[in-house]
Amino acid sequence: MDSYKINLSEAEMPQEWYNIQPDLPRPMPPYLHPATGQPVGPQDLAPIFPMELIMQEVSQERWIPIPDEVQRIYRLWRPSPLHRAYRLEQALKTPARIYYKDESVSPAGSHKPNTAVAQAYYNKAAGIKRLATETGAGQWGSALALACNFFGLECTVYMVKVSYFQKPYRRSLMQIWGAEVFPSPTDHTNAGRQIKAKMPDTPGSLGIAISEAVEDAATHDDTNYSLGSVLNHVMLHQTVVGLEVKKQLDLAGEKKPDVLIGCVGGGSNFAGFCFPFVTRKLQGEDIRIIAVEPTACPTLTKGAYAYDFGDTAGLTPLIMMYTLGHSFVPPGIHAGGLRYHGDAPLLCLLVHEGVIEARAEPQVPVFEAARLFAQTEGIIPAPETAHALRATVDEAIRCRETGESKCIVVNFSGHGFLDLGAYDAFLEGKLEDFEYPETELQRALAELPQVPGS
Ligand SMILES: *Cc1c(COP(=O)(O)O)cnc(C)c1O
Repeated sequence: MDSYKINLSEAEMPQEWYNIQPDLPRPMPPYLHPATGQPVGPQDLAPIFPMELIMQEVSQERWIPIPDEVQRIYRLWRPSPLHRAYRLEQALKTPARIYYKDESVSPAGSHKPNTAVAQAYYNKAAGIKRLATETGAGQWGSALALACNFFGLECTVYMVKVSYFQKPYRRSLMQIWGAEVFPSPTDHTNAGRQIKAKMPDTPGSLGIAISEAVEDAATHDDTNYSLGSVLNHVMLHQTVVGLEVKKQLDLAGEKKPDVLIGCVGGGSNFAGFCFPFVTRKLQGEDIRIIAVEPTACPTLTKGAYAYDFGDTAGLTPLIMMYTLGHSFVPPGIHAGGLRYHGDAPLLCLLVHEGVIEARAEPQVPVFEAARLFAQTEGIIPAPETAHALRATVDEAIRCRETGESKCIVVNFSGHGFLDLGAYDAFLEGKLEDFEYPETELQRALAELPQVPGS
């Protein structure tokens, strides 16, 4: 049999997002104000986020309606297909049934527009004129540029300087969709000017770019800040992915998935994909849920579960999460979207409770799995996505060894058409595997903030 895809009709697209907060095994620890140690209130976040998103951040409602205007834009590429990967199964000679959910079909080539469109909508509805954000390799910046373009919002992207010059094509996407893109650090913000005075030749970093975007939003009344991962409302918007997968597995005649696999940078594609199944697992169903991260940035597998800042400069509230320390600077692996020192607090809680398991993979075997996938199923995976594919291939091989015919489902978070330079490096044998050094880890963890009053 050949590979096939399971499509839903537009009418079957979910009309509500699933909020996992009321179903957690224990409540999420609140964000804390770094100066007082007190929980952050809605008013603390109001200068940079619209109230609807702040309310979603703390909502205990299980189902939140997807606004009609957001649904209308989702329908440009949603529902996204679920594929049965027969050709990959055959190549692996596995009795496992492998499915992948294809989020690469969005205009930006990844899952990120699922939240970008929602965030642009709520900001527009609140009367905001412009959104400011940061981007590393450009996936998030291009998704937000696309969304702002649809809603007639201006979009300012602070792009890490080294990527701005080394990875020009996602910058082109952002500019085509009408965003203004600056190599960060810039002269537009205090944070940027200070860094440039101290380090004129800095290549920039995500931490610096976040500080610039937050300052831009906080100092302009008509401008808000937008974040593409980590926060609860971002996980919420991404659940459209997992809700579709549930319906598609039903159509495929699968009673339940045995193994769910996704890659984790800040956690949004993984959470959106698996959260709708977590409740079933908590109710006793036997489902393994595996989060895959790079060995070069082993947040869930080697980090501490502790309060830490979301950015390098220490401007954001304290978040209870697995962290490598906010001063951690990850090596320059090609999966740029997986180089973050922390992870979504909702995901971290579930890992800490043992509901979700985590593993780390080095980049050479990751690219080998990506090449096998490209040669069997055709699509070239994003380097981030390839981490999930490595674990998928390994699980399928284990099934071959044990003879178990499991149902394995992986989230295909994006394609790699703008990452071919990374594939070139792989094909030329120039990729290195990084193991994050233990001493460096201990140094960064020693700098975790003290929580006042604890
Ligand atoms: C940004 C990105 C990721 C990592 O971000 P998450 O919030 O962890 O999902 C993964 N895959 C692709 C294709 C991305 O663009």
